[in-house]
Amino acid sequence: MERTLVIIKPDAFLRNLTGKILARFEEAGMRIRAARVVRLTPETAGLFYEVHKERPFYASLCAYMSSGPCFPLVLEGENAISRVREIMGATDPAEAAPGTIRADFAESKERNSVHGSDSPESAAKEIPFFFADLEVAVTAR
Ligand code: UDP
Ligand code: MG
Repeated sequence: MERTLVIIKPDAFLRNLTGKILARFEEAGMRIRAARVVRLTPETAGLFYEVHKERPFYASLCAYMSSGPCFPLVLEGENAISRVREIMGATDPAEAAPGTIRADFAESKERNSVHGSDSPESAAKEIPFFFADLEVAVTAR
């Protein structure tokens, strides 16, 4: 079993798409181990996306990620990291495979509805960014 950090991003949260997006992951057998609603600041969004700080889209990304609530969650399942990335689809919805979350819901390459950890190393950093160990551990199995 593997765990990954997913964020339902502000564009999707503000369009009330949280339930529809969660259903995609649950239908694929993923279990929710932790979830919460948070409002990031541009600074905390910047810390989360620090790996992208030299990229031209960084400032805009931080503004967008702090423009409304985010819904981070820990999902657990077999090959959860790669399965979640498949279910999400490519970063740019114009390139995302039909039936993926981003193809169906994203507004743009930036406002693309969901985040998912891209590797075990990323998941190991991103889960504790939002959740204490205990919060993940005590969630119903
Ligand atoms: N992003 C953007 N423009 C780009 C590339 C990425 O606005 O050209 C945003 C988009 O919201 C994306 C996030 O920055 O989800 C992180 O980029 P990454 O390349 O890690 O994409 P992801 O792993 O989310 O598919
Ligand atoms: Mg990424």
